[in-house]
Amino acid sequence: MQISSRIAEMKESATLAVGARAAALKAQGIDVIGFAMGEPDFDTPFAIKRAAIKALESGMTKYAPTAGDKPTREAIAKKLREENGIQCRGEDVTITVGAKHSVYMALQTMIEPGRGDEVLLPTPAWVSYRPLIELAGGICVEVPGAIENGFRVSAEQVARAITPRTIGILLNSPSNPCGIVYPESELRAIVDVIAAHPKIAIISDEIYEKLIFPEIAPGISHWSPGSDPRVADRTVTINGMSKAYAMTGWRIGYMCAPSGQGQFMREVIKLQGQMTNSIASFFLPAVVEALSPASGPEVEKMRVAFAARAKLIYRLLSDVPGFQAVQSTGAFYSFPNIEALLGRKSPGGRLLHSAQVFSEALLAEAHVAVVPGEDFGECARNHVRFSFACSEAQIEKGIARVDAFVRSLVQVEAASRS
Ligand code: PMP
Ligand code: GLU
Repeated sequence: MQISSRIAEMKESATLAVGARAAALKAQGIDVIGFAMGEPDFDTPFAIKRAAIKALESGMTKYAPTAGDKPTREAIAKKLREENGIQCRGEDVTITVGAKHSVYMALQTMIEPGRGDEVLLPTPAWVSYRPLIELAGGICVEVPGAIENGFRVSAEQVARAITPRTIGILLNSPSNPCGIVYPESELRAIVDVIAAHPKIAIISDEIYEKLIFPEIAPGISHWSPGSDPRVADRTVTINGMSKAYAMTGWRIGYMCAPSGQGQFMREVIKLQGQMTNSIASFFLPAVVEALSPASGPEVEKMRVAFAARAKLIYRLLSDVPGFQAVQSTGAFYSFPNIEALLGRKSPGGRLLHSAQVFSEALLAEAHVAVVPGEDFGECARNHVRFSFACSEAQIEKGIARVDAFVRSLVQVEAASRS
């Protein structure tokens, strides 16, 4: 059967690939410590589960409207108005099969293939953005963040990257994989730049919005670019249930695009109608429940646990020789640089010439799963990503293994590195 070059040339998701490899080793009875998957280890809060079970029991088993039912779209719009300052209505919202589906549809709806449309991507950035930009026919233009600046890109860098072909910028704060949060002033400065270019849209992926650690970075808080009236009608805000409510397996995300006459969202919903139609209808009341004030304390409990883990993993990683880590202030990722270790040989005889080989050796020889940096962007290639969505005991055990592995590496003379 023929396979299109569009798909053949697309990279597989590195996060899912390492996650699957770790799961396969675990299934063989190997005690793998998994830092690969960006997936909270908590269970979904009971009241949210209960809402779905009740809906199912009451016979909510038919198709829902493509974008979701009115009460759920209204509940999301209310959340975005009240918590994020985004002026929107239920009609500006669609509920999707995970936030990933929202990112896909936003890019498909925005990019004209074959015209050289460029989308700016501050990097290091989540592994799926580039493939999804390219699948839609766009050109991904990386704007590299430097570890010295906490991985953040500046407004000046964004301004310099803009060309007549730029049609969008994809922002993600708190960031996967960097685990950092842009201060509001820095995001506003980037929005100032975009505001002066009316043809550039903003896609703001805010899926880690609830996981911010002011106990680590005093005063830090979330700010939504879509709340700025100058860019409100060309900002697509994406969020979802997976991270804040520990609902990864439910596959629920949403997108809000309060553009002019609602045209952009109508086109997105047209695509969704040909693609997936609505999410599972009996999940819709669970979204309303998740967004209700009742789940606030549950979310806060998980956030506090992630903040403690962020401190712990930073302390432990900072003591691993050759690791350069940045203190995470949001999400559940740490993204240390391991360049100093490249060129060494593992006890199993692997020459560690890249983060990819480092990660493969770490999994095979020390049974610790991390995601190599390469697919997070050009500037990310000498990094590895740790997802600390696991218990403090697992973090301690896992980083002890990483430390022992790193100390067992042998320096190889330059001449014999081939
Ligand atoms: N955006 C970012 C930055 C992510 O890390 C993820 C990973 N889950 C997603 C979007 C997609 O999440 P989901 O499809 O589970 O809602
Ligand atoms: N987003 C999470 C991660 O980065 C889950 C896997 C994925 O969808 O990429 O690990």
